[in-house]
Amino acid sequence: MKSSARVVVIGGGVVGASVLFHLTELGWTDVVLVERKELTAGSTWHAAGGMHTLNGDPNVAKLQQYTVGLYREIEQRSGQNCSIHMPGGLMLAGDRERMDWLRMAQARGRYLGMDLEIISAGEAKRMFPLLEEQYFIGALFDRDEGHVDPTGVTRAYAGCARQAGAEIYQHTRVSDLRQRRDGTWDVITDSGEIHAEHIVNAGGLWAREVGRMIGLELPVLAMEHMYLITEDMDEVAEYNAATRHELPMGLDFDGELYIRQEGGGMLLGTYEQACVPWSPRETPWTFDQQLLAPDLDRIAPSLEIAFKHYPALADVGIKKVINGPFTFAPDGNPLVGPVPGVRNCWMACAVMAGFSQGGGVGLTLARWMVDGDPGEDIWAMDVARFGSWASLAYTNAKVRENYSRRFRITFPNEELPAGRALHTTPVYDRLTAHNAVWGASFGLEHPLWFQRPGEEPREDVTFRRSNAHPAVAEECTTVRERVGLTECSNFAKYRVTGAGSADWLQRLFTNRLPRVGRINLTAALDRGGHIVGEFSVARVGADDFFLFGSQIAEAHHSRWFLGHLADGVRFDVLGLSLVGLSLAGPGARDVLQSVTGASLATENYPFMTFRRIDVGMIPAYVGRMTYTGDLGYEIWVAPEYQRALFDLLWQAGQPYGIGLFGFRALMSLRMEKMFGTWAREYRPIYTPVEARMHRSLKLDHDFIGRAAVEAELARGPARTLGYFDITPDPAEPADVVGDEPIWHGGAVVGWVTSGAYAHYSRRSLAFGYLPSELAVPGAIFEVEIIGQRRPARLLPEPVLDPAGQRMRV
Ligand SMILES: Cc1cc2nc3c(=O)[nH]c(=O)nc-3n(C[C@H](O)[C@H](O)[C@H](O)COP(=O)(O)OP(=O)(O)OC[C@H]3O[C@@H](n4cnc5c(N)ncnc54)[C@H](O)[C@@H]3O)c2cc1C
Repeated sequence: MKSSARVVVIGGGVVGASVLFHLTELGWTDVVLVERKELTAGSTWHAAGGMHTLNGDPNVAKLQQYTVGLYREIEQRSGQNCSIHMPGGLMLAGDRERMDWLRMAQARGRYLGMDLEIISAGEAKRMFPLLEEQYFIGALFDRDEGHVDPTGVTRAYAGCARQAGAEIYQHTRVSDLRQRRDGTWDVITDSGEIHAEHIVNAGGLWAREVGRMIGLELPVLAMEHMYLITEDMDEVAEYNAATRHELPMGLDFDGELYIRQEGGGMLLGTYEQACVPWSPRETPWTFDQQLLAPDLDRIAPSLEIAFKHYPALADVGIKKVINGPFTFAPDGNPLVGPVPGVRNCWMACAVMAGFSQGGGVGLTLARWMVDGDPGEDIWAMDVARFGSWASLAYTNAKVRENYSRRFRITFPNEELPAGRALHTTPVYDRLTAHNAVWGASFGLEHPLWFQRPGEEPREDVTFRRSNAHPAVAEECTTVRERVGLTECSNFAKYRVTGAGSADWLQRLFTNRLPRVGRINLTAALDRGGHIVGEFSVARVGADDFFLFGSQIAEAHHSRWFLGHLADGVRFDVLGLSLVGLSLAGPGARDVLQSVTGASLATENYPFMTFRRIDVGMIPAYVGRMTYTGDLGYEIWVAPEYQRALFDLLWQAGQPYGIGLFGFRALMSLRMEKMFGTWAREYRPIYTPVEARMHRSLKLDHDFIGRAAVEAELARGPARTLGYFDITPDPAEPADVVGDEPIWHGGAVVGWVTSGAYAHYSRRSLAFGYLPSELAVPGAIFEVEIIGQRRPARLLPEPVLDPAGQRMRV
């Protein structure tokens, strides 16, 4: 065994093997993989090997597409048979909502070039004669679905990596990980120590335990999962003889099951409601290529539906039942990337669909390690999307919810209940008393909208406009015509202090720093000129700053700042040690002025001022800004004052017709002001030039990514963020939710990032990226919303107050 290596990959399942292979592909060949038993000894060996490209997140779908396309290459290069079967797959819809969902999935796949076809139930029956047509109304057919041999694939990755110089040590368990002062690692195994520059946790079923070796409690949980294989069936033999090919794979949402041909019989797996976590606290090291006891009673409801939907199954014997564990993160997506705050420590775990995603996880992680950038949009898989609130018990609740909903529709306006309300601010009860309908983001509860008094605070889930629509319209009117109050604690807040803070931030930020007492907007970029974050920067001293950014990016941003930290500078995540309320609307100044001695007149407190003042008796930092585009103030206080602040403003606002507004109204108001948002318009795959953040770009100073920005400005961006006015279907109006394709001249030319109905302007608006040469104001496009292409006109400026007067009055 080597005593040192550039990288030690811990775990020889399909994911670890893929990471090892991709590192060698990128030229890092001094790499080793350590496996406690044999390759595949975790979840991999007993997997059903199914794979598909479709995913709710198109960026993940793209990586699945890459994975599925990789198998022939690694099979050929390694000489290891992967048993690749590509019969295609049917997603079967039993009702209209599922059909809508399939149409939306088909639309999302368009700009990825995915070959997806909506077919009738009759066509589905012809392709898959085992099904009973009466239970279905249609299907989506994906040619790129199939299955592989799990062991073959893992060995093929490993074989290719070995050819390139990687070494694999089996029957070697990593028992401890110790970091040296220089950030390198001593990897302690039962066969000796390896000194490594980087470690990768691809521990699968033991990823949690590997994390604990360095004090991490990863949000990962294993679930039991069952599939069964039938005896050979005459129906299958007849189909194979008649068509000379294998039956397509089937995904049956109503039965919460998947079905495919296996040899001469069928394989049927379920994501049952009565799901069961496995080893919820600790995975035993003694678990070794074992299976769990089958429990057919648990999957009986799914089997009952299966026998109805596929009657031939009811008469055939079961040859084998497999019950094995595999791991999930709370949202079902993998945990990939560098661990915030720990140098040279990388995650590649919680991969629940290793045969659809393993290749993409390996590729992006290897690029991230070698090039410093994953090279693709992996926001949905980033290990930094969870914070410390994702405890063991929270993970348990969320993973069970996710597993049991695997084949359920999650509507765009749906808020899932497990693990809530866990994380709340002091005004939670006040807002609940005002009939708030709550959502959660990054674990924190935030008000979505306020139901009318006496009515149940509940939102109907739908792809179209919900029961929230009229209430949100009223909230928007309150803000635009009188004054609205909302909670704004769900920003990420950071404080930067210490000698040299200003110089440090200036090297990270695209905009000049504001003067003391002022706020401005800025972006931070990576070396390639992609957006790492966008922030409001408030300066309270020469070397004293508050930064405000998107809350869901808190761990992602912290990782970035801490990774670039300069000597003498202190970077603190404020979390809920600073909470806020926001007043917005033409009456905002009058309300606030009535409770503070500080003069808020524009000449004394102009737009983008940030100062420490007293509001009533409450010490507060008050920034004159809001995301609504109206006159507004964000008032930041220590949590112990938030309730008093709420009562004070609410009372003071009564003569001015104050009303509460929530996140849905905010999203509507920001759309008519053409304000973009993080994780939608601004993501790490876009540049500030594409995203039209020109006002935050000042090339008069040096900052990370500046050279790339200059080069892009010189050649012009390939794509540009557009702002669209959409004409919805008058019979059944629906607005965009994100990821819809944008059509032009009969071809898909771009995609929607986000949008909303702008209540006050009475328009359905959307943002989306499109080729720059097509970004001509006034040009007409089409946006595909639930299977319908709707006219969309490209707008040159915000539909409301393009000169920005309302914010500055
Ligand atoms: C019944 C069943 C059916 C499935 N069907 C499918 C399917 O059809 N399609 C699909 O895509 N996915 C399927 N899966 C999921 C799939 O199995 C997983 O996504 C995949 O195996 C995850 O691979 P991994 O490499 O992350 O983890 P694992 O396979 O668990 O590998 C982790 C490896 O790390 C090793 N290890 C851990 N800790 C240490 C240590 N300290 N030192 C050394 N070695 C260590 C372990 O021994 C293990 O070999 C199924 C799972 C089950 C249970």
